[in-house]
Amino acid sequence: MAECEICGRSQSSLNQIDINGIIFNSCNDCSSLGQIVKKTDSERRTYQQTGRAYSQKRMEKQMFNELKADSGDGIVCDDFADIIKFARQSRGLKQKDVAKIINEKESIIHSIETGKYMPNLKLAKKLEKFFNVKIIEAE
Ligand SMILES: [Zn+2]
Repeated sequence: MAECEICGRSQSSLNQIDINGIIFNSCNDCSSLGQIVKKTDSERRTYQQTGRAYSQKRMEKQMFNELKADSGDGIVCDDFADIIKFARQSRGLKQKDVAKIINEKESIIHSIETGKYMPNLKLAKKLEKFFNVKIIEAE
């Protein structure tokens, strides 16, 4: 069983989907949120010039995040609210869109962005992955 990277549910098989240039392993329910990318085609995919640069940056970040995840837990940084808000706005997404995609309540996203609620590490990691940002620091 594998875990859907968007909603976190365990599934017997996952699709690779592309949401705003970020690749997620997602369940069938969440696949409609992005474009399905066939694993075998991903190597041959041609990117536009900006897409290529973006994708490379994303891969570096992902590798860093994965290393980070392996090295243990961390703490959510102080300016998580601004980082999440900016990341969301720069993607032209509404709070309710983000809530739906990552399977959280809209009020949670709102509280995070206003700094009233500090996400736990699991949610913070989900937000990091979704927005391709960094809000967890080493302890
Ligand atoms: Zn899902």
